[in-house]
Amino acid sequence: MKYYSTNKKSDKATLQEAVVKGLASDKGLFMPEVIKQLPSSFFENMKDMTFQEIAYVVADAFFGEDVEADALKKIVYDTLNFDVPLVHVNDNIYSLELFHGPTLAFKDVGGRFMSRLLGYFIKKQGEKNVNVLVATSGDTGSAVANGFLGVEGIRVFVLYPKGKVSKIQECQFTTLGQNITALEIDGTFDDCQALVKSAFMDADLNAHMKLTSANSINVARFLPQAFYYFYAYAQLQKLGKDKNVVICVPSGNFGNITAGLFGKKMGLPVSRFIAANNKNDIFLQYLNTGVYTPRPSVATIANAMDVGDPSNFARVLDLYGESHEAICAEISGCSYTDEQIRETVKATYDSAKYLLDPHGAVGYRALKEYLKPEEVGVFLETAHPAKFLETVEGIIGEKVEIPQKLQEFMKGQKQSVELPKDFDTFKAYLLTK
Ligand SMILES: *Cc1c(COP(=O)(O)O)cnc(C)c1O
Repeated sequence: MKYYSTNKKSDKATLQEAVVKGLASDKGLFMPEVIKQLPSSFFENMKDMTFQEIAYVVADAFFGEDVEADALKKIVYDTLNFDVPLVHVNDNIYSLELFHGPTLAFKDVGGRFMSRLLGYFIKKQGEKNVNVLVATSGDTGSAVANGFLGVEGIRVFVLYPKGKVSKIQECQFTTLGQNITALEIDGTFDDCQALVKSAFMDADLNAHMKLTSANSINVARFLPQAFYYFYAYAQLQKLGKDKNVVICVPSGNFGNITAGLFGKKMGLPVSRFIAANNKNDIFLQYLNTGVYTPRPSVATIANAMDVGDPSNFARVLDLYGESHEAICAEISGCSYTDEQIRETVKATYDSAKYLLDPHGAVGYRALKEYLKPEEVGVFLETAHPAKFLETVEGIIGEKVEIPQKLQEFMKGQKQSVELPKDFDTFKAYLLTK
C-alpha cells in the first residue's frame, strides 16, 4: 500500500517510509491510498469473534500488503492483551472503557502497535536504529514510553514540562530506564513541542540520527485505533443494540476520531459521530462556519484535549474530499466548560454510580444532550479516572482507588535529564547520543 501526503506535494511513500518518517516531506500527513471495504460476512460474524480476531481482520486491511501475515498477527495479538469492555451507564448510553491497558489510557493501543511495527521494520527489513522523540503534557509520554520499552533498535526521548505534569503521569515515563530517556524541560508543553519540531527540521541532527514522531500524525499510531470501534460494534450486536449507533469521541488532536471515521469508510455501520471538545472548540467552530481558524489552546481540566490546532484535521478534510457539507452530514460537535465537566462527573457518579474521568465526561455529556430516543450511544472513556486523581477526588469529595498498575509505577525511582528550553542545548545533547 502506498501512502500519499494530504498536502499532495511530495512523492508517495511505502508503509515503512511513512512510519519511519512520521510526517511527509511537504509537512502533510500520510494517508493510505486505498481504504478497503470489509465484507458483509465479517460484520455478520463479528459478535462471535474475540477482540484480537476482529482487530487482525482490520489490521490486515491496512497493513496486510506490507507485513507478513504471521508477523502482523503477532503484532496485533501482542498489542491487544487487555480487554476493552463496553459498560452500560444509563438509558441508551454505553461507555467503551479504553483504560485497561498498561498506562490506563487509550493511547496504549497506538503506542504499543507502533513500537512493534517499527521493531518489525528494524529486525526484518534492515531498518537502521530509530530515535523516537515525543513531547507530552502527560498521557502520550507514558503510553509511548511503555509501548516502546525494551524494543530493540529503538530509543525514545520523552520531553515533558518540568513541574507541569501530575506525579502519577511523571512516574509512568521517568521510572522505566532501559531505552527510555525522560527529558525534563524547564518550560511549557509548547516549548517541548517546539524543540521536537525544530529537531525534525534540523539538518545536522537528521544526518546524525534517524528521528521519528510517535504522535498521532504517525500512521502506525493512529490507524490501529480503528480496532476498538469495530469491537464496540460487535459488543452492541451481542446485546441486540446495533441499530442507529452513534459514537462520541472526546477529541484533542482528532487522531482517535479519525480512526473511527476510517472504520465507517470500511463499512462499519455507525450512523454518525460526535466530536466532543472542552473549551478548545476549533472543530465545532469549523462545523458552524465552514472556516477553520486555529488559535492558541487554553488550559482545562481535560488537559489531554487542550489543542488549538488539531493535527489530524487535515486527515478529516481529506477523507471527505474537503467538503464541509459531507463532514457535517456525519460528524457533529460540542464544547463544554470546566464547570460543566465537573457537574457531569459529579452527577453521573451520584445518579448512575459511574465514575467518569474529565475527558470521558465530555463524551458522556454530549450523548446525554444530543442522543435521539431511537439511537444507541457509545462514548469512548479515554482514560482511567485515577489518572486525574486530584481533580476527580476534588469533584466527588471521595477518595478514588488507585489501580495496582499505577501503584507499581509510583514505587519506581525517578530518572530524568534536566534541560533548559533552548534548542542549541537540546541539539548538543542529542548529538552526543
Ligand atoms: C489524547 C487524549 C484524548 C484526545 O485524543 P485525540 O486523538 O488527540 O483526539 C482524549 N482523552 C485522553 C485521556 C487523551 O489522553
